[in-house]
Amino acid sequence: MQTVKTLNARKRIALIAHDNKKTELLDWAQYNKTVLLRHELYATGTTGRLVEERLDAPVRKLLSGPLGGDQQIGAMVAEGAVDVVIFFWDPMEALPHDPDIKALLRLCAVWNIPMACNRTTADFLLTSPLMHQETEVILPDYDQYLGRKV
Ligand code: PGA
Repeated sequence: MQTVKTLNARKRIALIAHDNKKTELLDWAQYNKTVLLRHELYATGTTGRLVEERLDAPVRKLLSGPLGGDQQIGAMVAEGAVDVVIFFWDPMEALPHDPDIKALLRLCAVWNIPMACNRTTADFLLTSPLMHQETEVILPDYDQYLGRKV
């Protein structure tokens, strides 16, 4: 059976940027400040502090990514506590928390979460009418998986 979930007009947006991508995320956030402030912002620790400073607006900060922040956002995705993920990860550098990064990317796919991993996709997401109105999203059906014989 297909389950549909209603997302509010005010979305819960998680922001994460690796160190080499922080400037890009901050520039993007500043450019889109008016729109972003209509939503509820969450972020990994350092990204959150920098976005807060740049936008002069509150961001709910989790732990720094390498200290568990990516995992915390992943848990929020799994619990349905985050609607949109903007994750500027660095494709040019291996990081100590690579498994956590992969886990977050995977959970966003598992739960059909709108996710942008670069600035252009983030622009497309933020300018979508669905971003600013109540909207329904399909939750994947894992009943068959949960009911499997093991
Ligand atoms: P940070 O974490 O925002 O605390 O730097 C981001 C990350 O590396 O995942």
